[in-house]
Amino acid sequence: MKATNQSRRDFIKTTSLAAASLPFMSALSSCAQTPDRKIGFALAGLGNLSTNQIAPALQKTKFCRLAGIVTGHPQKAAAWKAQYNIPDKNIYNYDNMEQMADNSDIDVVYVVTPNGLHAEHTIKSARAGKHVLSEKPMEVSVEKCQQMIDECKKAGKQLAIGYRMHFEPNSLECIRLVREKVFGSAKIIDAAFGFRIGDPTQWRLKKDLAGGGCLMDVGIYALNASRYLTGEEPVEVSAFTTVTDPVKFSQVEESISWQSKFPGGIIARCGSSYNAQGMADFKVSADGGWFKMDPAFSYHGNHGVRSDGQEINLSDIDQFAAEMDDFAQCILENRPTRVPGEEGLRDVKIMMAIYESARTGKTVSLA
Ligand code: NAD
Repeated sequence: MKATNQSRRDFIKTTSLAAASLPFMSALSSCAQTPDRKIGFALAGLGNLSTNQIAPALQKTKFCRLAGIVTGHPQKAAAWKAQYNIPDKNIYNYDNMEQMADNSDIDVVYVVTPNGLHAEHTIKSARAGKHVLSEKPMEVSVEKCQQMIDECKKAGKQLAIGYRMHFEPNSLECIRLVREKVFGSAKIIDAAFGFRIGDPTQWRLKKDLAGGGCLMDVGIYALNASRYLTGEEPVEVSAFTTVTDPVKFSQVEESISWQSKFPGGIIARCGSSYNAQGMADFKVSADGGWFKMDPAFSYHGNHGVRSDGQEINLSDIDQFAAEMDDFAQCILENRPTRVPGEEGLRDVKIMMAIYESARTGKTVSLA
C-alpha cells in the first residue's frame, strides 16, 4: 500500500497546528511568496559536497544564489568561475576571506571544509559581518562550538548547522508519528549509519581534522535522529568502539555502538561504522506498533514501512535546497533558524560523552 494514510495537505495542516511545539515541522509550508531579493551564498571549501550537492542545489533554490567562493586552489577557482559565472571580486581564499566585509553580494558563508576547520572559517565569516551555515558535525570540541556561537552572536549574525534531515518530509512524518503517539508510546529506537571508507590518507581518518571517526561523520545522523524523534535530550550514554584494521584506523574509531536513555523512558540503540555496508536506517518500536525507515538518511529515496502495512513515502525533495531556502528566509524575515549553533553544540557534547564512555567503559551522565 503506498503512503498515504495522510495526504500532503493533511500533513501540512497537522504540522502547522503542531508548529508551536514542534518548530521544525513547519518546513513544508514555507517558500510560498516570491522573494524581493535573493540571499547571496559563498561556499567555503569546494570539495565533494559543495561540488556534487550544494552548488547544484543552489540552482534549485528560490531565495538563494551562488554569489561567491572561498578556495585554496586557483585551478578550482577558475573552473567554478567559468561554470557559475562568479565575478573575480567574489573569489576568496582562506587567508583573505575577512575581506568579504566589503562585499555586499555575499550575505551567508556556507562552511563546507573539514570538521576541525569549521570554527576558524565561521569566525572569519562572522567577523566579516556574514551569516554562517556550517556543515555538520559543528566542530571537533565543545569549546570550539561555543566560540562559533559566541562570535556569531557578537557579530549579530545567524549561525545554522547543516542538518538536512530537519527539512526532509519523511523524517518530519516520522517525528509526527512518535510525538502524536500514532503507534502508542515509543520505547526503543534503533538507528545506524555507516559505510566503507576508501582512501586511507583522507582527512576523515585524521583526528585533528575529523575530531573522531564514523561517529562524528555519519553516526551523528543516528544520534540526531534519536533526539528529533523523541524531542528529548538523553540523560545518560554508554558506548564501545572497535578497530579491526589498526593501520587504517590508527587515529579514529572504525566502528562504534552506543545506547542512550531518554527522560521519558525511551532507549536508543545506535551504531556507526566506517567498514560496513547496509547501515542507514532507523526503527521505532512502540507499545502499539512500530515503523522503520530504510534508507533514513540518504540524499534521495528515503522511505519506510509501518506495522499497519502502510508505507512512509512522501515527496523526495532536494534537502540542501530546502535547508538553504529556509536559512535565507530566516535572514530575510529576521527569525531564528530551527537548526541553530546550539543544536550542533548539543550533538557535539553528547558525542564527547559517547567517546568518554567508550574510553572509560563507564556510563556517562548527561543530566
Ligand atoms: P572534501 O574532502 O570532499 O572537501 C573538503 C574541502 O575542504 C576541499 O575542497 C578541501 O580542499 C578543503 N580544505 C580546506 N582546508 C583543508 C585542509 N586543511 N585539509 C583538507 N581539506 C581542506 O569533504 P566533503 O565531503 O565535502 O565534507 C566537507 C564537510 O561537509 C565536512 O564537515 C563533512 O562532515 C560535511 N558533509 C556533510 C554532508 C551532509 O550530508 N550534510 C555530506 C558530506 C559531507
